[in-house]
Amino acid sequence: MSCPICERDTEVAFRPFCSKRCADVDLGRWVNGSYAVASRDPEDVEAAFEAVLQENAKPH
Ligand SMILES: [Zn+2]
Repeated sequence: MSCPICERDTEVAFRPFCSKRCADVDLGRWVNGSYAVASRDPEDVEAAFEAVLQENAKPH
């Protein structure tokens, strides 16, 4: 089984992801409603992660 975000080997603690980072990316995609962008391009993963960070940095 591989991480659905980056396709690296998964870590038991973060199943089905390889790391908290990828779990956060996945969560961010859902939160931002952009999950339809099913790209696994590493640059897109990076962009999605940045989007999560920016979203979390916003005042609520
Ligand atoms: Zn991953």
